[in-house]
Amino acid sequence: MLKQIKGLHHVTLLASSARENNAFFTNVLGLRRVKKTVNFDAPDVYHLYYGDGAGTPGSVMTYFPFPNAARGQLGTGEVGTTAFTIPVGSAGAWEERLATFDVKSTRDTRFGEVRVLFEGPDGEHLALVEKDDDREPWTGNGIGEEMAIRGFHSVDMRLRDAGASSELLKFMGYETVDTKDNVTRFHVPGGNEANVIDIETLPQVGHGRQSAGSVHHVAFAVENRARQLEVREALMDTGYQVTPVIDRDYFWAIYFRTPGGVLFEVATNEPGFDRDEDMAHLGEALKLPSQHAHLRAELEKYLEPIE
Ligand code: ZN
Repeated sequence: MLKQIKGLHHVTLLASSARENNAFFTNVLGLRRVKKTVNFDAPDVYHLYYGDGAGTPGSVMTYFPFPNAARGQLGTGEVGTTAFTIPVGSAGAWEERLATFDVKSTRDTRFGEVRVLFEGPDGEHLALVEKDDDREPWTGNGIGEEMAIRGFHSVDMRLRDAGASSELLKFMGYETVDTKDNVTRFHVPGGNEANVIDIETLPQVGHGRQSAGSVHHVAFAVENRARQLEVREALMDTGYQVTPVIDRDYFWAIYFRTPGGVLFEVATNEPGFDRDEDMAHLGEALKLPSQHAHLRAELEKYLEPIE
């Protein structure tokens, strides 16, 4: 069993409009945009990162906005809900805030925790979960410390059959916490605060169709490149097809497809988002990786301007 996985690193989704996506995550949810770059594999598309003040692993929601992309269809073989933690007692304030932005929400309780459920601009399923969480929040836009998002709580994997993916999570160091109805909760000890994964078993539901609003992949955090290589080797020894290590400028990444169909990434906590710009100005300027630097003039004309 692996000990190197420290919880979530980032979660990456597809979107249809950079402007709406940016407005929602910064103005409505109050996250900080910590990087404005492009999809390294398709540089005519933005890659936008939102998180806490530093873009700490475990807080970073990222998007590839494909202009005018059709909405995806949620099914199995993918992540449904991405959940963030909020302070205990702040659910009501969030319900009021979301309503002022015409975002409809509902409330429920899962494994004893109060959740506010709502959709993002492309119909993506999001949740705010009340939980004690010491992480320092990014504040502003009318959101004070008493209600600000702390970072990720969990993601919810929707699978027709949970068996093989449960085994994989256990191999990755996760432990079963509890099962209620068709949901099993897993937790990784010794990780960051974004240490929960829920598996929702939906045997009658077909595969999703990925497009705007879909979760593209989930990335797990490892401390550094040495730990990442250990994880890569262990996964390959178990029979997983894992990509070579890829330099994403702000972290190093490996990817593999899980038995249930969800794309997993393992990303390093180093070097971080202040690698190529000052912490005070994170996310303001368009940053390009060296392999696409020659496209700057074209991209600045082509990409939809965002605030
Ligand atoms: Zn990623």
